[in-house]
Amino acid sequence: DKPVTAAQQWTRTTCGYCGVGCQMDAGSADGRVVAVRPAQHPVNRGHLCLKGRYGFEFNHAADRVTQPMIKQHGEWQPVGWDEALGFVANRLLAIRGQHGPDAIGVLGSARASNEENYLAQKFARVVVGSNNVDCCARVCHTPSAKALKTMLGTGAATNHFDDIEQAATILLCGCNPTENHPVVGARIKQAARRGARLLVIDPRRTELAAMADVHLPVRPGHNVPLLNAMAATLIAEGLLNHDFIAARVTGYAELADFLRDYTPERVAAGCGVAAADIRAAARLYATQGPAMCLHGLGVTEHLQGTEGVMCLINLALLSGNLGKPGSGINPLRGQNNVQGAAHMGCDPATLTGAQSFADAGERFAAHWGTPLPQNRGLDLLQMMDAARDGRLKALWAMGYDIYLTLANEAATAASLAQLELVIVQDLFLNETARRFGHVFLPAASFLEKDGTFMNADRRVQRIRQVVPPPGDALPDWQIICRLAAAMGQPAGFDFAEPQAVWDEIRALWPAGAGLSYARLAQESLHWPCPDEQHPGTPVLHGTRFASSQTATLACIPFLPSSEQPDDDYPLLLVTGRALVHFNAGTMSYRGRNALLRPSDTLDMAPADAARLGLQQGERVRLHSRYGSAVLPLNISDAQQAGQLFASFHRPDLLLNRLTSSVRDRLVHAPEYKLTAVRVEKATD
Ligand code: SF4
Repeated sequence: DKPVTAAQQWTRTTCGYCGVGCQMDAGSADGRVVAVRPAQHPVNRGHLCLKGRYGFEFNHAADRVTQPMIKQHGEWQPVGWDEALGFVANRLLAIRGQHGPDAIGVLGSARASNEENYLAQKFARVVVGSNNVDCCARVCHTPSAKALKTMLGTGAATNHFDDIEQAATILLCGCNPTENHPVVGARIKQAARRGARLLVIDPRRTELAAMADVHLPVRPGHNVPLLNAMAATLIAEGLLNHDFIAARVTGYAELADFLRDYTPERVAAGCGVAAADIRAAARLYATQGPAMCLHGLGVTEHLQGTEGVMCLINLALLSGNLGKPGSGINPLRGQNNVQGAAHMGCDPATLTGAQSFADAGERFAAHWGTPLPQNRGLDLLQMMDAARDGRLKALWAMGYDIYLTLANEAATAASLAQLELVIVQDLFLNETARRFGHVFLPAASFLEKDGTFMNADRRVQRIRQVVPPPGDALPDWQIICRLAAAMGQPAGFDFAEPQAVWDEIRALWPAGAGLSYARLAQESLHWPCPDEQHPGTPVLHGTRFASSQTATLACIPFLPSSEQPDDDYPLLLVTGRALVHFNAGTMSYRGRNALLRPSDTLDMAPADAARLGLQQGERVRLHSRYGSAVLPLNISDAQQAGQLFASFHRPDLLLNRLTSSVRDRLVHAPEYKLTAVRVEKATD
């Protein structure tokens, strides 16, 4: 019932929610965002989901923090920027002097621009002198990047969203696009209605699973044996692209030998899927091409997350579904700029452009005018370990509520409580700041600054300032540059505008050299785009892989997670997102979208609810081996008996009290998708 204010001005920018990267026009009046309307653009074709379209009210929420603050005697005290940055600089210099640079960690943000993430990792490496820099890609698609980089040479989506309409078959594995990437979900639905075949691997009967030609409701944690069995079927039934394998694949004999133990009959019972359905899925994927695979966190957030993606790549290599329109392996990135955050170098192991230290270290050192740090660098999860045992003393977290969102809340709290200095930079006083913060630096939102984002299909797109930041809040890039100066290192951080930062990025990242602001003003472009005449590269690996002519198939043995059900914890819980809300709820709960879904829910199969004597809507308590949480119950046919699903958006419900410390064994993404629990009526 709020009065609607007419927009006085419209500004083209990129949605700040998910990694689809829809283009929109944001309307403003009197310094406030008052409306959003969709743009006609190749990504979203005149559509937005209800997050992009209506979820802008957070920007002017009453609890935006508009002044820097320092916590004194347990109370936040507003201070000026000079005092706040002086305090941070002195504390960081003291910690570095006493414990060395590797006692400090920096976290970039998917909420921040490419330019800001570039500066965050440059700050860590140049000003602090440590490779302890990471971002939230660690907990979602770093397994995808690792698998794709290892096997194909480029750690990003192989194809673009326009290929959804080119695919004869669409394989969705561990993703629920109609809820989590709604504009892409709608494009997939339309493609299926026009005749594309749909193959869904997901424990739940999602909207797209219900439409699928084949739905494999895999038991959580069993992607690897299931995908191995599909590959074994391709080999056993000769459903191979022999020309592609001969020209571009190595390791076929080894894989064929290895997969003898992974016939559909052998794995079917463990995976909870009929052997005949595994064969049907394999036949569909291999024979009705081109087949495009899109996958999500249901693949990556497991003990074998990276290896699950490698198994998907095996299928694409065996069937020749790579390097052409309508095919490929495509991680659906969750957040607006999570692809960009890691790609800009907020990753302990790589420099900007995912370049290795061996290949590019000297070039970066020469450009930055300083030797690069020699430590291996801690990732986010390793930083938590190091904090707990006293090796890490200070952490700077930008746009990232790590306390709320990391798995195993008790373990995260124990780590954060040990730190001498926690610097939180955000729009709101998030839970990390409230409980563990020492300094709060108020940041501008994506609607209040210029820069670029990189979406899930490798497009670089402009964001533009729609309104000024409130009060003293500043864009992240300005805060980083001012802190560098406060620490005595202004050189290399004296940028007047984001474009100058971007030009430095282009100078150091050969595959992005052609992505000038002048071109991005006219169009969005896919990297690699090595010069300003280059049209960009929507489809990777056309005639060769990034670093070689051939790719090698991977033999991945199945390793069950330690997180297994038993008599005390007999049910398997999967956590994930719901359409209306976004991640920690920071943005989506500060607006009228919250009315559409006021609470997270626990989804349970009717049979389990009947067995436990539970009713629709009643409050239930979940217990895991790590903690407990209370949620309202939603009895849902989408769930299989013995399995549960809970969304995780409401900060006060703290779903990560339940999740474990199991991590992807290669790159440490937490296993959010598998927790053994029991459920009972809540009595409090
Ligand atoms: Fe924004 Fe994603 Fe929705 Fe598009 S699909 S409007 S990018 S949240």
